Amino acid sequence: MTFNRNALPAVADVLALLSIEPTRSNGSGYAQVKCPIHGESNPSLSIHLERGNWRCFACGEAGGDALELYRRARGLTFAQAARDLGAWEGK
Ligand SMILES: [Zn+2]
Repeated sequence: MTFNRNALPAVADVLALLSIEPTRSNGSGYAQVKCPIHGESNPSLSIHLERGNWRCFACGEAGGDALELYRRARGLTFAQAARDLGAWEGK
């Protein structure tokens, strides 16, 4: 069982799985989205659409990639999240 980072979907595709529609990025590469971890009506979470690093300025959660956001939003282990995203090879 191996994690294959190269098999991870694009950041926008991971957001789509979480039913998040990112606003267009503002030139810095970051988009503002509604935080799927604490739940809110105003977008407080900033995520880089290429690198996937993110931070929520309302609840303070942050992570280095879109997989981590998906994992926290769904309450999964790393392996479960990687498997969901098709980046876990083997059984
Ligand atoms: Zn949050």
